[in-house]
Amino acid sequence: MLDYTFTEEQNLLRQTVREFANREIKPKIKEMIKNRKIPDSILKGMADQGLFGMAVPEKYGGPEYDPVTIGIVAEEIGRADPTVSIPVFFLVDNAWSYLLAKYGTESVKEKVLGDVVKGRKFIGIASTEPNFGSDVASMTTTARHEKGKFKVNGEKAYISMVREIKEIGGGFITVAKTAPEKKGTSGTSLIYLPYSDQHFDLTYLEEMGREGSSWGAFKITDYEVDEENLLWRENDGFRIVHEGFEFARAMIAVISAGAALESIGRGVDYMKQRIAFGKSLTKFQGLQFQVADNTAKMETALDLGYKALWTYWQEQKYGKFTRFQVSKEVAKAKLLSTTWAFDAINDALQWQGAYGYSKDCPEEWALRGIRSFQLAEGSREIMRQIVARETIGKEFI
Ligand SMILES: Cc1cc2nc3c(=O)[nH]c(=O)nc-3n(C[C@H](O)[C@H](O)[C@H](O)COP(=O)(O)OP(=O)(O)OC[C@H]3O[C@@H](n4cnc5c(N)ncnc54)[C@H](O)[C@@H]3O)c2cc1C
Repeated sequence: MLDYTFTEEQNLLRQTVREFANREIKPKIKEMIKNRKIPDSILKGMADQGLFGMAVPEKYGGPEYDPVTIGIVAEEIGRADPTVSIPVFFLVDNAWSYLLAKYGTESVKEKVLGDVVKGRKFIGIASTEPNFGSDVASMTTTARHEKGKFKVNGEKAYISMVREIKEIGGGFITVAKTAPEKKGTSGTSLIYLPYSDQHFDLTYLEEMGREGSSWGAFKITDYEVDEENLLWRENDGFRIVHEGFEFARAMIAVISAGAALESIGRGVDYMKQRIAFGKSLTKFQGLQFQVADNTAKMETALDLGYKALWTYWQEQKYGKFTRFQVSKEVAKAKLLSTTWAFDAINDALQWQGAYGYSKDCPEEWALRGIRSFQLAEGSREIMRQIVARETIGKEFI
């Protein structure tokens, strides 16, 4: 059976989040851009609405929503914030707190997850280093296992949410080599590192867009954490890190589609009002066809994003798909949605003429923000590699 409908509960949640976003997020976007910081009132409001740690099990105080339902919230937040700063915050925290809930030790989950749900702690991902991103096998950060502790040394770069995690609380699921002598991605582990001023030497980086989100690099020096901070098994972290990336990538697909559909809507509204050569811009068929093509692509991308989230959950909860099938569904959705969204927003900017290029126009913010998704949580080339591998066959590429 194939059922394309959302449940009543999901529709109600969408409505509630949309009302919250219209009331609390949309009116504060300009303030956020000016101050280059997500207003505290938004983070507090999101926590009050229960929008953090949404996949966290009830046992730790969470609502334990499934990924499709969390995707609905991601889409709505993507529609509300053209800069995509708040969507990034939402997707990173929700995807990686899910992974911690799935693979963390009982004691760490008890210490951390309740605060995640309340918005007092946030969970980020620290994988990228100054000299590697896509090529995880080249990682140099190490975690030496000695006397019941992991001693971590290394450097991470281009990491999202650093300011909030430093100032409010939380930590990073950190990818490190626990057996540096092992080749490739084996000998890699995931370790939860709570932020520590003493052990993190943090530098802030400035992004091209996403004015509200924070971004940074940190050196980690002799940071000793208990072995309970390990997720899953030592030296086998690479196997599970993809589960976090895939959840995040599928959310990026629905966020990008939601953001682009909003841009198209704003562009159409502008064209209806704008008179050129004696008629409104919407009377020109060349522009109508651009609206049609972009709408067709972005509504398709939205469907692909939800299919990816659904496939992910069928595999995670019921084992109905293989990991590789999930990777392909997710990679397809992220690749197409982020590429098409950039093009759609660029067209919507164009429809608005010179105003489109001004700093007052949401499409100017959106274009710079959405561009990040062709890199973050896995680049578009890596998405192509995954689709090619699963289509052609690993042995032939
Ligand atoms: C806004 C933003 C936020 C981010 N947040 C985080 C975060 O929170 N945590 C984190 O760990 N990382 C984060 N990243 C880093 C991100 O995951 C990396 O940028 C991404 O994985 C690519 O790695 P790289 O930048 O080192 O590029 P590289 O891997 O050096 O690649 C450079 C270019 O070459 C391409 N390329 C690489 N290998 C191949 C290949 N085999 N075939 C074809 N093309 C290839 C890449 O696609 C890319 O276009 C963020 C990045 C951005 C832009």
